[in-house]
Amino acid sequence: MSWEENVRKVVPYVAGEQPKKEKMIKLNTNECPYPPAPGVARLAAQMDCGSLRLYPDSNTTPLVHALAEYYHVDEDQVFVGVGSDDVLSMAFLTFFNSDKPILFPDVTYSFYDVWADLYRIPYRTCALDADWRIRTEDYLQENGGIIFPNPNAPTGLLEGLDKVEEIVAANPDVVVIVDEAYVDFGGESALPLVEKYENLLVVQTFSKSRAMAGLRIGFCIGNRKLIKYLNDAKFSFNSYTMNYPSQVLGVEAVRDDAYFHETTDKIVATRERMKKELARLGFSFPDSKTNFLFATHESVPAEEIFRALREADIYVRHFDRPRISNYLRITIGTDEQMDTLVAFLKDYLK
Ligand code: PMP
Repeated sequence: MSWEENVRKVVPYVAGEQPKKEKMIKLNTNECPYPPAPGVARLAAQMDCGSLRLYPDSNTTPLVHALAEYYHVDEDQVFVGVGSDDVLSMAFLTFFNSDKPILFPDVTYSFYDVWADLYRIPYRTCALDADWRIRTEDYLQENGGIIFPNPNAPTGLLEGLDKVEEIVAANPDVVVIVDEAYVDFGGESALPLVEKYENLLVVQTFSKSRAMAGLRIGFCIGNRKLIKYLNDAKFSFNSYTMNYPSQVLGVEAVRDDAYFHETTDKIVATRERMKKELARLGFSFPDSKTNFLFATHESVPAEEIFRALREADIYVRHFDRPRISNYLRITIGTDEQMDTLVAFLKDYLK
């Protein structure tokens, strides 16, 4: 027997590429094209690096406080992690602990099956319908937990709160996680439902709408019992997850609500304009409520367009996966970046 037989083997998640080129247009990992709130830069410049000598606050108290205040919940209903990937991973470990399979859509965030494999959680995917919609009835079968993004990624489609509530209400014996990474671009959050359903966990991130992917800040809100169990698992794993600068700068971002709305409004306006521009070029897409479009072209294969764009240092995302290999996920950048993209496509598709 070889030691390799006892290795926890897993096929890792493949993140979008992170090229470092000066002149590129990066529309492949749904980052925000605008900087974080101005106060964040101000505070970063003044940061007392003497504090880095000490361990950070393992409870991320100031950030939990700021989020509780902002979302009108109690502090013991908030859990903070190093990006929502950290929160989601911890939630999988904590709540998906049954022999029954957890359920999630077949076309969704491609990290879910990786965490399930990593933690040895059985899972079953439920096919979205032909319009990329979740079929509620799929989530009425016996299961060990449920997770889906709303709006979904990479389709960009938002499901109504009625549908979310129906799924949560029909599954009182398991935890239902709603991944709201993109909710701030026109979605309707399930947060108001956490008071009503103790099995509902709502996960959000600072990586997209708050323009702080580089600081790695995510959080979730739910019933205080859920949050307690999450903290128990987190403190059994690594107490000091979030670094001090992220904690301090995260609080500053939450404070500037005007800037937050200004930024998300700008992205939504660009997205709506892009829907018209891309449709004129022969693309079609589900009606995105996120900061990206999931587009397919009437005649040119997605992979060809992907490669041509890449040659021109315009990066978008292409997934070589069943059902979606003829689609491109295009992050909404600045108006100027999107105009360059459209000009390139106009010429290329001629
Ligand atoms: N959920 C979804 C649906 C996502 O697309 C992403 C971004 N890759 C995440 C969660 C994780 O984002 P982060 O860890 O940066 O918060």
